Amino acid sequence: MAIDLHTHSNASDGTHDPADVVAEAAAHGLTTIALTDHDTTAGWAEASRAGLELGVAIVPGVEISTQHHGISVHLLGYLVDPDHPGLRREMEHARKSRDTRMERMVANLAADGIPVTLEAVRAQAKPGATLGRPHIADALVEAGYVPDRAAAFADLLNDRSPYYVHHYAPDVVRAVALVREAGGVPVMAHPFANRRGRTVTDHVIEQMAEAGLGGLEAFHRDHLPPEREHAVALAERLGLFVTGSSDYHGAGKENRIGENTTDPAVLAQIEEQATSGTTVVRA
Ligand code: AMP
Ligand code: ZN
Ligand code: FE
Ligand code: FE
Repeated sequence: MAIDLHTHSNASDGTHDPADVVAEAAAHGLTTIALTDHDTTAGWAEASRAGLELGVAIVPGVEISTQHHGISVHLLGYLVDPDHPGLRREMEHARKSRDTRMERMVANLAADGIPVTLEAVRAQAKPGATLGRPHIADALVEAGYVPDRAAAFADLLNDRSPYYVHHYAPDVVRAVALVREAGGVPVMAHPFANRRGRTVTDHVIEQMAEAGLGGLEAFHRDHLPPEREHAVALAERLGLFVTGSSDYHGAGKENRIGENTTDPAVLAQIEEQATSGTTVVRA
């Protein structure tokens, strides 16, 4: 069993169709992947069909944009009810806010003579996809202004850049409770990925655990070995499980599908904890 619990398609800021993400998983010998697009469940149906065809089990999931006092936190929600009104409302609010935030970031960049327009950014995303900074990066790559997404983030798009603009996101402790209300299992994505942006303290993670957090994504390429060890120790102290995943985004990032994996016993726990009626899709 090789299980990767965090991947993105072009329903958000991945570069591949959901079916192609599943094909990539099959080609790399994975038995199971979770599709966890940012703030949307739009890719689930296509991924599930492809999973049945190719013999890859699909764990329907989302990566919910949340924050704590302005620090962005990504919360994975596995096996949630996609029609839960509260969860849907929060994700729709975040997606709408991402649209206006995109207009403002593009205006900030263009005002400094950086060659980008809203149309060019939109052209990088599938209609209806959750818009994110990687789409700005792709527009800048197409314009020949930067060589790749990483270069765009290094100077222009990271959250310390003068061009950065926040978007609406619910508080992370409330979001953890909301995922449980929606019958799903909340797992904190890359909790200590501090080279990519600010991260919250262990104290906040304790509050998340009290609100029903299930696990920590300890094994992720944005964690160095000490951060992985800390995540494992903190999870043990708080009674949480740990996961490992690739955060695959297709061609846009270096992450290779299946580069980190999750213990089958942990997936079994996730399935036991879920109460939504949404289940793992298996051939
Ligand atoms: P946003 O959703 O607009 O806040 O953008 C965050 C997304 O940008 C993350 O989910 C990552 O996929 C991507 N990202 C963050 N840092 C980098 C980076 N250094 N290089 C490429 N992609 C990145
Ligand atoms: Zn992303
Ligand atoms: Fe993330
Ligand atoms: Fe992600």
